[in-house]
Amino acid sequence: MPLPRLSDVIAALENLWPAERAESWDAVGTVVGEPGQEVGRVLFAVDPVQDVVDEAVRLGADLLVTHHPLYLRGTTTVAASTFKGRVVHTLIKNDIALHVAHTNADTADPGVSDALAGALGLRVVRPLVPDRADPDGRRGLGRICELDHPLTVGELAARAAERLPATAQGIRVAGDPDAVVRTVAVSGGSGDSLFDHVRAAGVDAFLTADLRHHPTSEARAHSPLALLDAAHWATEWPWCELAAAQLDEISDRNGWGLRVHVSRTVTDPWTAHAASTATESLGAPN
Ligand SMILES: [Zn+2]
Repeated sequence: MPLPRLSDVIAALENLWPAERAESWDAVGTVVGEPGQEVGRVLFAVDPVQDVVDEAVRLGADLLVTHHPLYLRGTTTVAASTFKGRVVHTLIKNDIALHVAHTNADTADPGVSDALAGALGLRVVRPLVPDRADPDGRRGLGRICELDHPLTVGELAARAAERLPATAQGIRVAGDPDAVVRTVAVSGGSGDSLFDHVRAAGVDAFLTADLRHHPTSEARAHSPLALLDAAHWATEWPWCELAAAQLDEISDRNGWGLRVHVSRTVTDPWTAHAASTATESLGAPN
């Protein structure tokens, strides 16, 4: 059986995550690649950064699929003296294609937040912000989930710290660690624009990334909602495993014999964490 062409593999990826379902500001689809080139090995990763591209080269990958776009805005140079131009040069010199599935993978069924919920052992009930174009009500941003057995906020944070890939940040918590959690909203990536939807859903906890001071303190002031904040990369990495399994299944069905890998490169930019040791306390954190 001959290896599939890049165009065949891209068509399968577009079927999973149609480009037209991406947000209008997003930049998804194929960034680098010859449609006629053969693909034998595929690597999935969150970020199209140089370390990941170097990993793709070492692996002998023909296609790198990332969640985050390489270029989100227009550019006038791919000179190798620029960070992103260096990525483009390395890809082309090594015959590696790059394809991006970003907000079209966020809202897919299954999508980024399903993978996050799965990693945490949560049962998905419905999208947090349903896609009105989906008659089945399965697609959309974030997921509302239930726990089979209630956990305390502290136990849920410990579970997230154990099951998501390790980062310097770990899991930050806002809320009573002993409060009982039965329902959780999750959203892979930056989630603090979703507080209104989370409040409307009436869940006990919200797990996401990149929570900022003001939205977080406002969300805490008006409800007992517990907030769990993980590293952005860590909340989206489980999607790489889900997406790799989806492509593996398509490869088996088509007899393509693809070798599908998930990146082991940590692309969370934060590298260390120092717990506060100041001796003068301003009062117990609440
Ligand atoms: Zn992201």
